[in-house]
Order: sequence, then C-alpha cells, then structure tokens
Amino acid sequence: MRIFSKSKLLALRQCPKRLWLEIHRPNLREDSAATEASFQAGNQVGEIARQIYDPHKLGALIDVNADGFTGALERSAELLKLDQPIFEAGFSAGGALAFADVMLPEQIGDQQVWHMVEVKSSTSVKDYHRDDVAVQAYVAQSAGVALQSIALAHIDSSWTYPGNGDYRGLLKESDLTEEAFSRTEEVQAWVAQAQQTAALPAEPAIETGLHCDTPYACGFYDYCTRNQPKAQYPIHWLPRFGAAAQAFADQGVFELAQVADDLLNPKQLLVKTHTLANTVYFDAEGAAADLAPYPLPAYFLDFETINFAVPIWKGTRPYQQNVFQFSLHTLAESGHLAHCEFLDVSGEDPAMPFAQALIAGCGTRGPVYVYNAGFEGSRIRELAARYPELSAALLAIHDRMVDLLPIARDRYYHPSQQGSWSIKKVLPAVVPELRYDRLDGVQDGGMAMEAFQEAIHPSTLLERKAQIKKQLLAYCKLDTYAMVRLWQVFAGRADLKL
Ligand code: SF4
Repeated sequence: MRIFSKSKLLALRQCPKRLWLEIHRPNLREDSAATEASFQAGNQVGEIARQIYDPHKLGALIDVNADGFTGALERSAELLKLDQPIFEAGFSAGGALAFADVMLPEQIGDQQVWHMVEVKSSTSVKDYHRDDVAVQAYVAQSAGVALQSIALAHIDSSWTYPGNGDYRGLLKESDLTEEAFSRTEEVQAWVAQAQQTAALPAEPAIETGLHCDTPYACGFYDYCTRNQPKAQYPIHWLPRFGAAAQAFADQGVFELAQVADDLLNPKQLLVKTHTLANTVYFDAEGAAADLAPYPLPAYFLDFETINFAVPIWKGTRPYQQNVFQFSLHTLAESGHLAHCEFLDVSGEDPAMPFAQALIAGCGTRGPVYVYNAGFEGSRIRELAARYPELSAALLAIHDRMVDLLPIARDRYYHPSQQGSWSIKKVLPAVVPELRYDRLDGVQDGGMAMEAFQEAIHPSTLLERKAQIKKQLLAYCKLDTYAMVRLWQVFAGRADLKL
C-alpha cells in the first residue's frame, strides 16, 4: 500500500489529476516564481517560529534531508519519549505521512501530552489550512501520539517589529483542535481516494478550470493546456472578465470574436472592437483636456518597494511595502528635463533617507505624476505616519499627485496592450522606441525586488552589488521617463524635445 505525504493529500484535494501527475509524471511540474517565493517565505517563517517557540534552544530539529525518511521517523519516535520541543517531527500511520512544524510537550497530571502547531506564512487561516491541520492530527493520532491540541500559527500583519531580533508577537495562534479532531473519517476517505487515483493506469480526465489556481497555482498548468486550441485573440484579454471567460472556456469557446457585444461593458467592448479591427483608440482631445489644469513644472515619480514576511527593519510590519528606491524626472517650464533618484542597497532601513530625498527632489509646486496613484500614495501616507517630523512635507507631495493611469485607461487603447493598461503594456504601444525588454537584468517590479534582496544580502560581493545597483537605477529611470513620454503624447506637447 502506498503511503501519502500530507502535500500529496492536499494535491488530491485541489485536483485528483494533480496528485496522479505528481506521482507518475513529476518532471512535468513547473512552479511559478510566485510559488517559489511563497516556499521561501514559508521557510523563513519556519526558522523564526523555532526561535519564538524555543527561545532557550532546548528543542531538537529533525532534518529529513540528512536523516532520510526512516531515520527521521525513528528519531521523532525517540524524541517523543522526552519532554523537549521538537521541530519537524515525522509520523507515519493510517496510509499517510506528515511532519509537524512544532511539537510542544505539556503535562496533564502525570501524563505527558503534546501541543502541535502548524506554522504558515499567510496572514489568516484559510480553508486549505484546515485540511492541512486535519491531516496532521489524523496522522499523529493514528501513530499513537498523545496529541492534546493543535493550532495554526499565522503571521499577525498588525504587529510591528521592535528590532534586535525580537520576533515575539509575529505569529498568532488559532486553535483548531476540535475541528481537526472531528475530521478523521474525512481524512481516511482522502487517503482511500488517493490510493485509487494513484493506481489509475493513466491520468484522470479532468479539464482545467478555476481550481487550477485554487488554493495554489498548479505547476502542471502548461502540461494540461498543451493541446487546448490557442486563440488568436483570447477572451481573457477582456478586462475584469475572469469568471465569465472561464465559463466560455468550459464550453470550448476561447476567441474574443465569439463573445456577443451585449455581454460586454463599454471598456470590454472597446477592447474587443479595437483588438479585432487592429485599430488604435486615442481620444487626444480628452487626454489633453484632462492634463490642461496642470501646468509645468511637472514631476514624474515612481517607487520600488520590497515586502518581507518576517520584517528585518525596526518599526516595520510583516508584508509591509518598504520603499527602497525612487526615480524622479522633473520637466521645467522651459521644457528642460532633469532627473534625480534614490536607491539604498546598504541593507539598513532606507525609509528615512528615502523620505528626505523625496522631499528634497519634489520641490513645492507643480503636479507630481504617478502611474497608479494608489500605490505611491499609500507609501507616502505610511512614511508620513512613521515620521511625524516629515509628515507635512510628505503629505504636501501626496496632495500634488496626479494619476496618469485613469487617463490612459479612458483615452487610449492599442491592440498590443491585450486588455491591460499596465505601464509595461502602454509604453511600448505609445512610444515604441522605449522597451523594457532591452534593459539589462531588471525588467519588472518582481525582478527589482529579487535584485534588491540579493544586493542587501551580506554575502553579495561588492562587484555584484554595484552591477545590481546599476540595473535597478536603469529600470526605475525608464519607468519615470516612460511617464514623461506618455504625458507628452497625452498632453499633445510634440513641440518639446524629450
Ligand atoms: S492544471 Fe488544473 S487540471 Fe491540470 S493537474 Fe493542475 S489543477 Fe488539475
């Protein structure tokens, strides 16, 4: 009889085909960068959990990679006879195998019992966590562990890091004992279903659908869709049409041309019409009118940020968007274009010097153009709240912000945008000679975060650090120069040499 790990049972819960493929064709799986990043965040939080639950380092850590499965299970069984915390203790029983993040001994009378904690890097308890905990409880109890209680510890996003490596308060426990203990029969049924699925001679015939992304992006998606007809103009290019697009896909309809006009809102209809006709929509008069109230000088601003599941800078919260870089172009009344920037890769908290440089760069009058004001606006408000002494100057910049995104959305559409108004799509359409894909190393926000993380890592060599810095500066500068050129087209200022 096959033994199923918890992750295999959870794969079954998402999709039996996924389980079958993970067992029989694991090489077909391609995890996305987002999935990899979430694994990394999970590992990081796991390490901090060990500090929090075992501040005096009395516990033992099981390392399945070093000990192998059999060795890890045997060592866990030995350690369960003692009364110290155990991390990654393994159990195998009832056709399943699971490793517990944290096992804490408790004494009830003269009996030793255990409190189990599953640690997650999310900020709340999700439904799939409940399945996860139910499997943990089932396996541990089937293995004869005196399990008294089970909880899920997740990140408390309202907690602020006080510094000095003190992470008490980062995790918040939710007790799931009653619920987990009541689901034994359900888990047994999953194990039985997993046995049947694994024994199938071929993968089960299951179509792709919304479940392919829920609760995780499935790494077999490319494989499962390899034979699906590729639409020339896919329905999913329609903005805000997700669930409806899936309903069409379920009926084998993938082409934009097959969606009736009366099912679409004006924006979706505009995308459909101009995509199929391969024509550009540009309300030049409307765009110029939108920008007319804002005379020069004008500022064009963009931020780069990073978030950490486990904060590294005092006074910051888990998953907070921490600013580390900005680019600022300034267009004077004379038509002269100047540029300034900020980037701190020292590894120290960049927030205060960032805020000071921003105030120095933005002057005191003239619109501050951004693309998607919600993002930069929120960061400025957060900085203002964090540094009361800079609050007035920061909020004054905030109040001068003008968002180019809604203007682009209302006044411009090129078929190459494929239903998106992200600056990465709009820029090559409006100003074809400016291209992000020609940049060296960093070409989007995700890459910028990764590069920054590498740059601040203590083991990164100075030479590499300098290379990353150059790439980050070039990337962010293009973002604001792109805004300048968009503004020029929208404002009808072809007279300016920019
Ligand atoms: S891509 Fe979708 S259908 Fe294919 S295995 Fe994954 S979840 Fe199942």
